[in-house]
Formats: sequence, structure tokens, C-alpha cells
Amino acid sequence: AGFLPFEHEPYHDFAQPAVAQAQREAFAKVREQYRGRTFGLYIGGERVEGQGSYEVRNPADTREVVWCFPKASAQQRDEAVAAAQHAFETWRFSDPLQRASIFKRAAELLRARRMEFNAVMTLENGKNWAEADGEVAESVDHFEVFARETLRWAEGKPVYPMPDEHVTTVYEPLGVVVCISPWNFPSAIPLGMALGALAAGNTVIWKPASETPLSSLLMLELLFEAGLPRNTVQFLTGTDDVLGDPLVDNPQVRMIAFTGSKEIGCRIVERAAKVQPGQKWIKRVMAEMGGKDPTVVCADGDVEAAAVGIVQAAFGYAGQKCSACSRVIAEDGVYDALLDRVTELARGLKVGLPEDNGAIGPVIHAGSAERIGRAVEAGQKTARLVLGGETPDMGDRQGGYVSPTIFADVDPRDPLFQEEIFGPVLAFTRARDWQHAIDLANDSDYGLTAAFYSRDPHKISEARRRMHVGNLYINRKCTGALSGTHAFGGYGMSGTNAKVGGPDYLFWFLQTKTVAQRY
Ligand code: GLU
Repeated sequence: AGFLPFEHEPYHDFAQPAVAQAQREAFAKVREQYRGRTFGLYIGGERVEGQGSYEVRNPADTREVVWCFPKASAQQRDEAVAAAQHAFETWRFSDPLQRASIFKRAAELLRARRMEFNAVMTLENGKNWAEADGEVAESVDHFEVFARETLRWAEGKPVYPMPDEHVTTVYEPLGVVVCISPWNFPSAIPLGMALGALAAGNTVIWKPASETPLSSLLMLELLFEAGLPRNTVQFLTGTDDVLGDPLVDNPQVRMIAFTGSKEIGCRIVERAAKVQPGQKWIKRVMAEMGGKDPTVVCADGDVEAAAVGIVQAAFGYAGQKCSACSRVIAEDGVYDALLDRVTELARGLKVGLPEDNGAIGPVIHAGSAERIGRAVEAGQKTARLVLGGETPDMGDRQGGYVSPTIFADVDPRDPLFQEEIFGPVLAFTRARDWQHAIDLANDSDYGLTAAFYSRDPHKISEARRRMHVGNLYINRKCTGALSGTHAFGGYGMSGTNAKVGGPDYLFWFLQTKTVAQRY
């Protein structure tokens, strides 16, 4: 008995007119159903209003207010933690098969509503159809994977036997887990963290990014519809002064699961280390942060495949992924040909509206475009600008648009090589030989993803050993980790390496009990 063999959720093929039409209709339906509405918080199983609300705007044209979300008050925040603590006393003893069945049911419900979830995401964070679809498919995979992982961890692990004792090693949940998530993957990232917590029997404070609350809320309501007890997740939106530090500092919180910037991740690690009055545990922190992800191309590598992979990984979703390729390190013999080909392919990517499935959409805020612009301007003084650098003409649309930008001959000490830009900006650096290329790739505070292109088994095995990253991709692009297959999480300042979607992920949300019994 058990679940059917696992298969990754297939993507939609938008080249088929009927599929594209269905996606277009989903936008119309989402606007009709949700636009202008004010949504609620969830505290203690009840949907409640906040203390005022804020507007969520379409980043493709910020004149459009898509919907509104409440601002939780400080009192509501503290009530939410107390409610999560209370719910934990029941949920901790829930039947693992019940939890797994809820996730399986949620997978079914989401399969039927993928186009709608895609459209909501596009309107909140500017992903085009394919990027949004990939993420919603990943969310289906998460449900399927976590259903299986729930049962696997519920079994405990075998121990070396003792003749006169019955000994078991079992895993028990921790308590209240605060999940703080970013806007760039507003479905799959919060879902992965929340499912990890819930699968293990913890209760959750779900704090989505303020830019992308509906992508999260719809996922949560889908879980409720699938049978998740409503008091197990408290959903809070609002301002960071109310929901940031105070949640991290709260002594009733047992764990913080965070994905976002290095700056905030480090701040959480530091604050959570302080034991507050009344606190009865050492807080656990999972922090998944940034990347400055390299693609190494050896002289014997497949230049065409590398160029295609680099362009997808560097410019997909305008480079706003922590997994995005932002550095290309190529051996001398192949450097110029690769640079030419990548530039040619990138030039073909048109900046356009995500709702029309444009190749490169807006970055999340006009302010982000300005920040990226400053990095590009500074780069022009130290490196050779090969593509981009100008602001695309989007008519009277208001949003932060940045065209694909490529710099060549970037020095390894240059900020273009070292600092995460989180936009469509790619730096090329020349390596003397392939070993030098690996050294340059490793010359970073980060260590999230990397790609390595070569046909030589010796070089490949050396790269497997020496590349200092959590996700290494050989002869393929460095984005698009699949749940259950490519456990995702980095080395170094990329974070705590919790590896979402991997075989050890649930352990982060559990503690281990040894019971030795004599009869
Ligand atoms: N898991 C995603 C990928 O492999 C990236 C997640 C992120 O950027 O935060 O592309």
C-alpha cells in the first residue's frame, strides 16, 4: 500500500493556442473575482480584519491596484503566536497519515486551478506565464513530496539492538514555526517552509512578502479546503515593524524559517540567538539567502548548450532568483565565441508585459530598477558594457523595467563579480584555464548554485569535488530545481543549507527522542 510512484508535475505548453487562450481567460477571471477586494488575516482559525489595510499593485504597471491586504496590529500578532501555541498541543499528536492525505488532496485541488494561480502570481510579482507555471507546478510537486516525506519520517529510524531493552528513535515536532518568505517565489517558497513545519507536526505563523500576499493566501485556503485544521496556520500581513523583529524575538516562537536577503537572514540569526525572558529553548533558524551564481565553461564544453543555459538562467524572471546565473567564467579558448553567442541570444529577448508572456518583464519595484541602474552605471567605469545599460521604452506604463545587460572582462574584485544585483545583469570573466575557472567560481561569499560545462570526465569529476556550492549542475542551467529531486539550498553566506525538497528537510523541523524500555 502507499502512494503511486512520484512523477513531476508537467508544465503547460503555451505554444498551443488553446492552452494560451485558457491562460488569457484566467487573467480576466482573476480580475473579475479578486480585483479591488480586501482580504483577511487568519488567527486561531478565524478570518479577521486588520488595523487598516494596504494596496498591492501590479508591478507591470503600478497604476493598477490589484487588491488590498490587512495590516495586522501588534496585539493581533501576539494573539497569533498564542493561537499557534495552543493549536500545537493538538496538532503535534495528529495522525501522520491524516497530514499526508491533506497534502495529497491539496495537490489534486491545485492541479485543477493552476491557470488561476499563475495569473494571480503574474499580477503580483510580474512573472511571465512560463515562469509562473513552473512555480505553480513546483508547488504541486511540494504537496506530493511532503505527503511522502511525512510518512517516511513518522516511521522513526532503526538503532543497533540491545538484548534486554526495546529501544526506539522517533522524531517529534518543535512548536511554533514562523515562516517568512520573499516575493520572487510567492507560492513555492512559503509553501515549502510551511509544509515542512506542518508535515512534522508543528504549527505555523505564515508571513508572506507584502508584495505577494494573495499567491500565499490562495495556497493556504486551498490547504484548508483540503482538510488542514484552520487553527494550525496563522496568516499575517502588514508592516515589517510589527511583523519582523517582534515575531523573531517572541519567546513562544520555537523556530524561524526564512528565505530572503543575506542582510535580513543574518539579522534573524543574530536576534534569534538571544534567549528572551521566559524562553525555554534555543531557537532554531533556517535562513536561505542570496547567491552570486557562476557558470563555468571549459574550452571543450558545448558552447551552444552553455549559451542557451546561461541566457535562461541569467535573464529568466529578469534575473530575480537567488539561483540566477550572474557570473560567467569561461576559459580563454572559448570566451569570445561564448560571449558573442550569449549576447546575440540575450539581444533577442524582448522586454514586455508579463501578462502577454513577454520574455523579460518588470523588476519588482521602480526602486529596484534604480538600484540596478546604479550598479550598471558603476560597472561601466570598471568593465566593458556589451549589451543593455539603457532603459526600455514601455510607453506610459509605470514600473521598473531593465533590459538584459552584459558586462565583459569583469575583474574578480569588482562588485559586479562579488555582489548580488538581483536583476538581469550578467558579468563575464576570462579564466586562464579550467582550474583557474573553478578557483574564480569559488571566489565568492555565496555558494548557492553553479553550472559547469565540459565534455571531459576528468574535469567534470574535479568540478564535482571542488565547486563550493549546494547545487551544482553539470552541462545544464543552474535554475529550476525540482522538488524531491534537486534538494535546494546553498553553502557559505547563501544560508543554512536546509535543502528544501530533499530527503533531510523535515529533520530541520523535528527533534529526536530516544526511548529505551525494559519490560
Ligand atoms: N528553487 C529555485 C530554482 O532552483 C530558486 C529559488 C530562489 O530563487 O529563491 O531556480
